[in-house]
Amino acid sequence: MTSADVLVLGGGPAGSAAARTLARLGKSVVVVERSTYHDWRPGESLPPQARTTLAELGVVERLLELEPATSFGIRACWGQSDPYAIDFIFDASGTGCQVDRPRFDAMLASAAADAGAALVTGARLLALELERCCWQACVETAGQRRVFRARALVDATGRSALVARRLGVRRRAFDRLIGLVGLVDLPESAAVESNLLLEAVEDGWWYSAPLPRSRMTVAFMTDADLIGSRACASAFAARLRQAPYTTERVQGLRLRDLRVRSAATARLDEPSGAGWLAVGDAAEAHDPLAGIGLTNAIDSGRRGARALAAALDGDTEAKARYAADTAVSFWRYLRQRTEQYARERRWASSPFWRRRCTDDASSSPGGIGSDAWG
Ligand SMILES: Cc1cc2nc3c(=O)[nH]c(=O)nc-3n(C[C@H](O)[C@H](O)[C@H](O)COP(=O)(O)OP(=O)(O)OC[C@H]3O[C@@H](n4cnc5c(N)ncnc54)[C@H](O)[C@@H]3O)c2cc1C
Repeated sequence: MTSADVLVLGGGPAGSAAARTLARLGKSVVVVERSTYHDWRPGESLPPQARTTLAELGVVERLLELEPATSFGIRACWGQSDPYAIDFIFDASGTGCQVDRPRFDAMLASAAADAGAALVTGARLLALELERCCWQACVETAGQRRVFRARALVDATGRSALVARRLGVRRRAFDRLIGLVGLVDLPESAAVESNLLLEAVEDGWWYSAPLPRSRMTVAFMTDADLIGSRACASAFAARLRQAPYTTERVQGLRLRDLRVRSAATARLDEPSGAGWLAVGDAAEAHDPLAGIGLTNAIDSGRRGARALAAALDGDTEAKARYAADTAVSFWRYLRQRTEQYARERRWASSPFWRRRCTDDASSSPGGIGSDAWG
């Protein structure tokens, strides 16, 4: 049995940021991660502002070693059929970038380990119990059973919010957004525009962006019920025909690894409780249109870690302050999301746009129901 101050369940960006911060604050930490960072992961764009967050975590040099693809801006067909440019040249933080997600997540995990966190990867959670103010987790890793005990737990399991849900905390969804996300391999000689391309269509929107190592991510974002029972690949191909600039970009290239992922806006009713706290997507998940998922995950991992460390040291208000800050930033994000969608008015009668541009449940604090899509 291994004992620690904090057990972090989930070693994605939020979990690793929390673990590194806790370790730097002198707490003993164990991170239990299901994968070995070789699995498929969506979300690769880092906006210029992410630099500040990464610098605060002390990982900018490590990011540069991954040789991310520089992004100088966004080309958007949003609100009009002709594309216009949103240049990062005017952004005080500099350029954005595109990262290889598994390598990015592995880099953050090793930064946590270098700060002193114990990292257990390829771990299957067999049991998790809270007994007399102490968490006990039994996991299987490399064919062995291991037991970890900790005074506090961080739920960093992403959209599944495994711990919070097990504790009966409700996770509210505010829409049914999903992403059909694929990869294309680019010929070595191909001259590809570095910018992210955003293209609105009747049932949703497309984004595509070059990745390191001559690849490009291509995604169609829509509502789960608008795809219906159609096979993912045929729905993807049919909707691609509605997006001339994205079609032009992927012309002649073979799509591979097509996956469907929930991208719904969602949040927990309570991001913390006795002996636990949720960070990243587990606490609140954003529409990829906002481009803040990774930055928020790292930022909330750091904030959550500081709150938990303070709580362990006897500050009885720390977790309540974290919950209040999380709520304020989420309601601000919801307003911005409504404003962003309202800029597109070409398909006023399409369910996808109507749901987002009216002042209905999708933008009210109540949400549309429990997050059964995540
Ligand atoms: C289609 C799509 C596109 C996106 N594009 C962008 C983008 O371009 N830019 C951006 O900033 N954001 C983007 N996002 C959002 C971004 O991916 C997330 O916000 C970010 O990954 C959240 O990080 P996290 O650490 O909270 O959760 P995750 O990245 O989901 O990490 C959770 C971790 O927990 C582990 N885990 C889960 N369950 C268990 C368990 N039971 N035991 C142990 N480990 C477990 C997982 O293996 C994983 O490593 C996108 C999201 C989607 C769906």
